[in-house]
Amino acid sequence: MRRVVEFDGQRVIVQQEAAPKPNPDEVLIQLRLAGICSTDLALMRGYKDFHGMLGHEFVGEVISGPDTWLGQRVVGEINIGCGVCDMCQRGLKSHCRQRRALGIFNYDGAFGDVFRLPVANLHRVPDSVSDRQAVFVEPLAAAAQILQQIHIQPQQRVVVIGLGRLGLLVVQVLAHTTAEVTGVVRHERQVALLRQWGINASRVEDVPLAQADVVVDCTGDVEGFHTALALVRPRGTLVLKSTYEGLSAVELTKVAVNEITVVGSRCGPFPVAIRLLAHSRIDVESMIDGVYLLEEASQALTHAGQSGTLKILLKP
Ligand SMILES: [Zn+2]
Ligand SMILES: [Zn+2]
Repeated sequence: MRRVVEFDGQRVIVQQEAAPKPNPDEVLIQLRLAGICSTDLALMRGYKDFHGMLGHEFVGEVISGPDTWLGQRVVGEINIGCGVCDMCQRGLKSHCRQRRALGIFNYDGAFGDVFRLPVANLHRVPDSVSDRQAVFVEPLAAAAQILQQIHIQPQQRVVVIGLGRLGLLVVQVLAHTTAEVTGVVRHERQVALLRQWGINASRVEDVPLAQADVVVDCTGDVEGFHTALALVRPRGTLVLKSTYEGLSAVELTKVAVNEITVVGSRCGPFPVAIRLLAHSRIDVESMIDGVYLLEEASQALTHAGQSGTLKILLKP
C-alpha cells in the first residue's frame, strides 16, 4: 500500500509499506476519498511535532474486521479514547486524558490505500450520501458542534468570520437556525457562494461594532480574534473554532470587562452531519477545488495551501 507521510516539516513523501495489522478492537479501511484540511497544513508546518501518516477526513470501505462492518462504506471519528479514564467514562473520548487522534496525534492517518481505526469510531454512510459529500462529514460535524454547545435564539444576530474550508460549513449550518446570520466576506468567491446559498454577506467594515449576540471565529489567527471581539456585544458569546498563537493579555481584559462568554469548539456529532448531507441541507460540491491521486499528495497539499483554495481531495 501507499501512504502519505509528513517528511521534514515542509514536504510529504509517498511511501510503499505493508498494510497495517489492526488490533482486535480495530478495522482495516480501504480509502475511497480523503480531504485535506487546514490542520494537515499546520501539521506540515510543525504543529504537534507530528511525523507520521497524515489525514483525518475520509470515506472508505471496511475490508477487515467484524462481520457486521465488512464491506460497509464508512466515515470515522478522529479521536481515539483509552476507554478507561474519567473523560472516556463520561462519554467524552474527544477529551480522553490519553487522547490519540487519527493523522494528528500518536495515531497513523487516513492518507493511504489502507488504514486502521477502532470500530467504536465508525459511522455507516447511507446510499443517499455520495463519497464526495461523505468526505465532508468530519468538518461538518465540527461545524454542527456549535449548536450542541450554545443555544442560538431565533431573533439573535450571529456573525461568522473566516469563511474558509470550515467557516463556509459553519455559516451554512447556522443559516438553518432562524437567527439573523451574516458571513463576513473578503473575496468575490465567498460573496458568490453566500449569494448562491441565500445567506447574508457583509464586508467586515460594514458589520456594526459590538452588536452581534454571537460571533464565530474560524479565521485561525490572532487577527480574527481581534475582529471577533470587536463585533460581539457586551455579554455576547464568542465561539472559537481557531487556535491562537501569541494572543495578548489586552484582549482578555476586554473579555472580562465586557463579560463575554467564550466557548472553545472542536469536534462534533457525526450523525448530525450525515443527516444534514443525506437531506441535502449543506452544499459541499461547490467547495471542491480539486481531486488528486494519492501519489500526487505533495502537489495536492501545495494547492490546498494556496490562499483562497477550499477543499482538495485525494483518491487512491
Ligand atoms: Zn480537519
Ligand atoms: Zn480516555
